[in-house]
Amino acid sequence: ASLGGGWQQLVHPTDRERLHAGMTALDERGELATQLRLLRADGQERWVQVRVAPVDASVGRAGGLVGNVEDVTERQAFENALEHSALHDALTGLPNRVLFADRLAVALARNARADHLVGVLFVDLDRFKVLNDSLGHSHGDALLVAVGERLQRTVRLGDTVARFGGDEFTVLCDGLDDGRGAVEAAERIMDALAAPVMVNGAELRVTASIGIATAADATATPEELVRDADAAMYRAKQLGKARVEIFDDALRASATEHLHIETGLRSAIARDELVLLYQPKVDLSDGRIVAVEALVRWDRPGVGRVPPISFIPIAEETGIIVEMGAWVLREACRQAAVWTDDWPAESPPMVAVNLSARQLADPGIVQLVLAVLEETRLPAARLCLEITESTLMGDAEACAITLARLRTLGVRLAIDDFGTGYSSLSYLQRFPVDYLKVDRSFVAPLRPGGGEETAIVEAITGLGRALGLTIIAEGVETEEQRCIVTALGCELGQGYLWSPPVGVDEVEALAVASSRGAVAA
Ligand code: C2E
Ligand code: CA
Ligand code: CA
Repeated sequence: ASLGGGWQQLVHPTDRERLHAGMTALDERGELATQLRLLRADGQERWVQVRVAPVDASVGRAGGLVGNVEDVTERQAFENALEHSALHDALTGLPNRVLFADRLAVALARNARADHLVGVLFVDLDRFKVLNDSLGHSHGDALLVAVGERLQRTVRLGDTVARFGGDEFTVLCDGLDDGRGAVEAAERIMDALAAPVMVNGAELRVTASIGIATAADATATPEELVRDADAAMYRAKQLGKARVEIFDDALRASATEHLHIETGLRSAIARDELVLLYQPKVDLSDGRIVAVEALVRWDRPGVGRVPPISFIPIAEETGIIVEMGAWVLREACRQAAVWTDDWPAESPPMVAVNLSARQLADPGIVQLVLAVLEETRLPAARLCLEITESTLMGDAEACAITLARLRTLGVRLAIDDFGTGYSSLSYLQRFPVDYLKVDRSFVAPLRPGGGEETAIVEAITGLGRALGLTIIAEGVETEEQRCIVTALGCELGQGYLWSPPVGVDEVEALAVASSRGAVAA
């Protein structure tokens, strides 16, 4: 269509100035291509793509303009929808983490002169997984929508509530006078969640753990601020949930350390920094070493040898444990296979390897164990996998299935740290295990003639034996404890009385001594 005069009157008032500027610049640019809204007589808006170019006078016609106008309303609506869905959570309609990060970056940049505070609240629902699993996902979804709406109602105009993922929400509070403003915002959220939520006719009660981080200026990146708020939320969970915690210097120090460990761990395997030590398990009837437990250590550059307690939880949390655990399994089996020929005592020892919750939940675990056994040619019956009682309590159903599949490979299974997980007899029966390890905390207080402590270990031992399990006493440190656990019916013992975890050469030397009866008391 040619562009007759007066058409510019149809252009939406807000776009008119832009059009005018474009037309004015036509001489330099030679062409104008833009999208504008037209306002129809009936008041309806249409988006149009406009292309305008001056007619080249040399072609022989009088100078003027040519161009065309194309209605792109539908396409524009589609693009708007696409953009909306890329930046919003489909379930709650709230901004998603991408849009949240964007708004946070803008808020921080705008606050470059630090005349007020920007706050981030990290809100994580307590026990949501349990609710979701027990009531079904449609209830879970409805609950998330309801929570989203409540959060939205607590914030001030201009603040952003986002669904960060799963049962995590983030709130951006802009223009705070001081840190109290963020705490007040968190308290408003706690209040808003206090009333029960009606979901499909059911009355649900939810609480949240909230972490707060604030920044005065643009020296903090959006990622850092969210990470700090997340760390504070994590502490709120650890301190008992349903509470508010503020990111502070102590958390900063531990978060930094956490980050260093995580970074270091990621390369520890490739750099060959992991070491396995072995702790003997002794037959209480004659003192011979019949098995060894592989226990990992990390030779951390610049720090020294690090015990598992300071890095296994981080490896577990970050998922690094899956790769690390595979290394431990492979290395322990390789060593145990070598011992088939080299072991100084009569028969080579069984090797025990710890499996974490994350590893057990990994769909590839059975395949991994099978592959490692084939690769190292270790007979399956010489591998024992230790799983802590609390891990088994996590998702009992799934664990029982995985354990049964591992058992068909021929490997042995042990419940570790038994007595700390409050499992019932019926639970125990569901797991196809061979060994029960009585937790160290029950063995430590054992005294001759002792009352309650002895009764507990006696009960555990009786229960285990009734189920046909072999009982291992952990953490035996004294001669007295050895006598008591033996009398109570434990068949195997492990502890500093015989040896702490040691290197390959030392454990071999201990085996020589034990087969000569030198270690037996
Ligand atoms: P755990 O599986 O219960 O291992 C036994 C822990 O008790 C070991 O600590 C051992 O050194 C310690 N111990 C043994 N006897 C005694 C004793 O008589 N007295 C005292 N006070 N302690 C004793 P360690 O080596 O520091 O390992 C701690 C935990 O780290 C292990 O507890 C296990 O849960 C975990 N862990 C170690 N290696 C691995 C691994 O390769 N994978 C996984 N997933 N976890 C591991
Ligand atoms: Ca263990
Ligand atoms: Ca243990």
